[in-house]
Amino acid sequence: MYLGTAASPGIAIGPAVLVQSTELTIIRKNSDNSNIEIESLHRAIAASRTDLERIRDKAHQAMGAEKAAIFEAHLMMLEDPVMIDEVKELITVRKASAEAAYDEISQRYVKTFEAMTNAYMKERAADVRDVSVRVLRKLLGVETVDLTSLEADCVLVGHDFTPSDTATMNRARVLGILTDIGGRTSHTAIMARTLGIPAVVGAKVMSHTIRNGDLVIIDGDSGEIHINPEAGLIARYSTQKQQHAALKDALNQLRGKPSVTRDGRQVELAGNIGSPKDIEVLKKGDAEGVGLFRTEFIYMNRETLPSEEEQFECYREVLSSVSSKPVIIRTLDIGGDKSLPYLDMPKEMNPFLGYRAIRICLDQVDLFKTQLRAMLRASVYGNLNIMFPMISSLEELLAAKRILAETASELRTKGVKIAQKIPVGIMIEIPSAAMMADVLAKNCDFFSIGTNDLIQYTCAVDRMNEKIHDLYNSYHPGVLRLVNKVIQDAHSAGIWAGMCGEVAGELPLVPVLLGMGLDEFSMSPNSILK
Ligand code: PEP
Ligand code: MG
Repeated sequence: MYLGTAASPGIAIGPAVLVQSTELTIIRKNSDNSNIEIESLHRAIAASRTDLERIRDKAHQAMGAEKAAIFEAHLMMLEDPVMIDEVKELITVRKASAEAAYDEISQRYVKTFEAMTNAYMKERAADVRDVSVRVLRKLLGVETVDLTSLEADCVLVGHDFTPSDTATMNRARVLGILTDIGGRTSHTAIMARTLGIPAVVGAKVMSHTIRNGDLVIIDGDSGEIHINPEAGLIARYSTQKQQHAALKDALNQLRGKPSVTRDGRQVELAGNIGSPKDIEVLKKGDAEGVGLFRTEFIYMNRETLPSEEEQFECYREVLSSVSSKPVIIRTLDIGGDKSLPYLDMPKEMNPFLGYRAIRICLDQVDLFKTQLRAMLRASVYGNLNIMFPMISSLEELLAAKRILAETASELRTKGVKIAQKIPVGIMIEIPSAAMMADVLAKNCDFFSIGTNDLIQYTCAVDRMNEKIHDLYNSYHPGVLRLVNKVIQDAHSAGIWAGMCGEVAGELPLVPVLLGMGLDEFSMSPNSILK
């Protein structure tokens, strides 16, 4: 038995599919038979073409022509006759093996693109690298796993999955997720909980221990992992799995009931979502609103920024599909473990303390205003609340509100209809904001406490680092004191305080938070009924 961090509840039993993220090892060997090497090269290109065409068609179906265009570009790079001729020349003249030749030439192209000054062209280096890894995998016989089209039910095992992997994978086929790194509040774990997929993260060397096709059991409640277990253990876990399903049924009986304590205090139980696709799970979870819409997922898995129109459609869809329930849309919170390759964000020493979220929006005002315009235009379709992430000072809040007011007035001048009242709130996830909560509360309409970040900043513990996972402690008195202060400061100023960090769904802390007077609990939709 191995142990990782329990990240999303439930039991998964099934064959492992290893998603390799390890570097490919290319040995610069020579070959006496150039014809065989050239044949292998053509076979690898043809197989890559088949894969790319399939992925392109799927992307087209699921996400539209614009998203599919990137794979069209990959196909063109794959077939580039000049590059193929250069590879063949190395094979025939230098007697290089197909993989050694392809690797050398593609790396040369990557370097050429990287050296360009035009930001757009520079970014193409990543595409060339992508295409070349695809071809090299075929040449080396290392299969690429296409997460969007998994053919059979499986447990995904990998060193790590990016939030965009989790967003695009074929949800119906994934029984469970197991990773070497990450903690309970890494975005991969949060996404797994939203989707109701059992997950164990931070399991250290699992991706090197498990082989493709091994039967694995992961227990998302205890963090236990079993590889090729005996029949008795499989039977025990199968029973446990059935108990889980029975508990789910029992919880479903609570749907539609009011969220009131025995002593008559009413709170709001809301859900966190990352895309309009999550509305379905939100409804199944009986959410009384959206406490956090992480809009950054709209910006991921694409080549360019989403247009105002695309964002408008997305916000409108969410607002109108939950009728008049409150929806808190958070402005872009990119950075940390969520990156956008096309934004040209330089690698940072401390990404969680770096150029992220509201800091980017106050710096790149056009990008911020585009998002705000989309939200304001959508406001007439429901009950919109706007929330700014990563506020660390009053100045930032006032600056963000100024830009919002300016955007609203520009729209009104053009005759665009906007809801009369749009409450504006902030995430309290930085200790300096918690300490200044009394002042901030006089300048906004609500608070939502982001414990995922608040814990990491208060305790100086990276939320992604499994080595120090024990220090990432939701029960730390220092954290609880800050949470309490924020709630009391909100109430003194006459505004409400909610929580959208994962602590809001942590059962043992619920009585504590109720005692402190928390007004709204927002969590992964799958945790609400519990
Ligand atoms: C938080 O920090 O608690 C939060 C809800 O935001 P995110 O997890 O997206 O950083
Ligand atoms: Mg946060």
